[in-house]
Parts: sequence; C-alpha cells; structure tokens
Amino acid sequence: MDRTQRLRWQQRCHRLITVQVALWMRPPARVLLCERDCNRWADVYHHPDYTYPDQVVPLCNLCHHRWHARNEPVYPDKPIYEKGMTQHG
Ligand SMILES: [Zn+2]
Repeated sequence: MDRTQRLRWQQRCHRLITVQVALWMRPPARVLLCERDCNRWADVYHHPDYTYPDQVVPLCNLCHHRWHARNEPVYPDKPIYEKGMTQHG
C-alpha cells in the first residue's frame, strides 16, 4: 500500500463522513465530547480503520495527534481507483 493509495482511502472515507454530517445522518464532531475522556469537545471524526469508512471516533485535535503519533490506521488491502482512471483486471 503506497502513500497515494493511503491518501485515496483517507479522502474517500473523509468524504463519506462529510456527506453524512451534511445530510444530518450524524452530528458534527464539534458537538460531541472527545472519546478520550479529556473533557474537550471533539474536533474531528477519526478513522482507526479505513476498511470501515463509517466507523469513526470523535476526537479533539490533541488526542487525534497523539493517536497518530503512536498508532497507524488500518488500510484496506485493495487499491482504490478514482473516477477517470482506467481499471485493469
Ligand atoms: Zn481529547
């Protein structure tokens, strides 16, 4: 899984959450408390595993940065193809 593929999965999953918030399918992260019990409001929906695009955790920016300093998210094994790309196989 190269960096481009990881970025594509991130973008696809972030877009899904943005759309869900826009359609009121989930509240904006900022009205939720950070799940790390730090008593701050969440700033972002964090994806621990991009295999599950709608499984997200509300985190504040600080806890989010801490998580990424210590952990690596899970990425799906399969490559992702953007619109306009030729698919082979
Ligand atoms: Zn926090």
